[in-house]
Formats: sequence, structure tokens, C-alpha cells
Amino acid sequence: MIKADLHVHTNYSDGEHHPFDVLRRAKAVGIDVISITDHDCIGAIEPAKSFAPELNITVIPGIEISTDIDDKEIHLLGYFIDYTNKELLNYLEFFRAERINRAKLIIIKLNELGLEITLDDVLKQTKSSVIGRPHIAFTLAELGYVKNIWEAFEKYLSDDGPAYQKKIHVSPQSALNIIKDAGGLSSIAHPGDIKEELLKKLIDCGLDGIEVTHPSHTREQTRLYKSIANEYYLLQTGGSDFHGGKKYDDSNFGKYFVNEKNISAMKHRL
Ligand SMILES: [Zn+2]
Ligand SMILES: [Zn+2]
Repeated sequence: MIKADLHVHTNYSDGEHHPFDVLRRAKAVGIDVISITDHDCIGAIEPAKSFAPELNITVIPGIEISTDIDDKEIHLLGYFIDYTNKELLNYLEFFRAERINRAKLIIIKLNELGLEITLDDVLKQTKSSVIGRPHIAFTLAELGYVKNIWEAFEKYLSDDGPAYQKKIHVSPQSALNIIKDAGGLSSIAHPGDIKEELLKKLIDCGLDGIEVTHPSHTREQTRLYKSIANEYYLLQTGGSDFHGGKKYDDSNFGKYFVNEKNISAMKHRL
């Protein structure tokens, strides 16, 4: 049986490791097929693909797109995407620019509160091309304004904090379209706290799959999502959501996966 981990991050988004290093670690824990699914970013796919044959690992091009609906954040995974697709690249570039813009607005608010922090300070702290609140929080801690990331959110950055800035709204429907137009398959990531009603709405909008295997799921949830997948003819995807590094639990890597049956069902649906 093959081990396919379809949910993995690299340092191109908020992961700790370079794609080469991620692949070496994947090899060490017996993973045969991997999908790099960085947040709103496809930069790691090319390097991963170039190195994978050496380790006899198959790389499925992927992505994890952040969306929101009714103030609820939903992450949608895309698989077998054409990562050179023009609309996809345009969207990601627009999104990247918007995130920088949002960071700038948050920094202005922090400056008004008397904290001396610049965008350069934040950019220096991150290798990621997708910057967000955690990077600003980390920088505030580095500058000594707070003890840790948690306190930075608590005092300044949380949704009701004084330096909060709304982010741009991306609907699940538009993310599903982006994935489809790039020739990919969609799956809802870690659906743990999504109501069934919303799930059905997404299925009506063309959702292809559901992430049944994820470290955050209980056994009951995994069973529930499998039965929903069967009922609605959805693909069953899964993975470790590996990020690496001390901030995260590395020990999940190699323990959460799907198998060749799931992969061939995906190829069949393409
Ligand atoms: Zn996610
Ligand atoms: Zn993820």
C-alpha cells in the first residue's frame, strides 16, 4: 500500500522547511506520494517536482486557498492544478499584494499606538511570500513589545484588537472556480467545525472532495466525513497538514495519509 500525504506546507508559505528538506523528511517517514499545498502560493511545486524523482516520490501539484463565508474561514485544497495557469497566477498575485497592503494598514495602526515597527521589520522576519498577522505578531515579540505571539494577538491583532484590519473577502465559490479553471480538483480542508448545511452548499457549488483524514479530526469525525463522501460521491482526501519546526507537531508526518485507491479515484474524476 502506498502512503499519500496530500496536505503539506513548506517555507514558501508558513511551513518551516524548504521543499527539498520536506521531501527528504517525507522519504524518511515512508511517504510515496506528496502534495505540496502551501497557502495561496505555488512557489514550492517546481522545486519539489525537480527533486522528487531522486527520492522516488511522486509530487501532486496542490494549493490551499483561504476563503470566508459568513465570517467563517474555510480552506479549500486544490489538486492536480496547472500551476502555470494564468488566471490562477493573477489571482495569487492579487492576493499577495492585498496581504501586503493589509500588513501596511495594520502597521500604521500600531505606529499610531506608539509602537515603532515597519514593514521592512516584518519582511525581514519571514521567508514566506504570503505575509499575515502571525508574522507581524512574531516581529512585535522580536522587537520586545510583547512577550510572545499570543500576547501580540491578545493586545493588538485579534479580530477585536486595536490594530485589527479586515482582510479581503474571497468566497468559497470563487476559489472553487479558480481551482476548476486551473484544471484541478477541489477538497475542503479540515472540515471539523463546518456545519453540514454549509458543506451541502459547497457540494452544490461543485466541490469535488472532502478531507477525511486530518490530525484535528476525531475518529467519529473521520467516520462521518467518509459517510458524507460516499453519500455525495465526493473524493476522500487526507494528510498531515505538516508545517515542521518547533511551533508545530512534526510527529504527525507519516501518520496521516490516504492510499492508491483514493489517488486513482482522483485521477478518474479529473
Ligand atoms: Zn488549513
Ligand atoms: Zn494546511
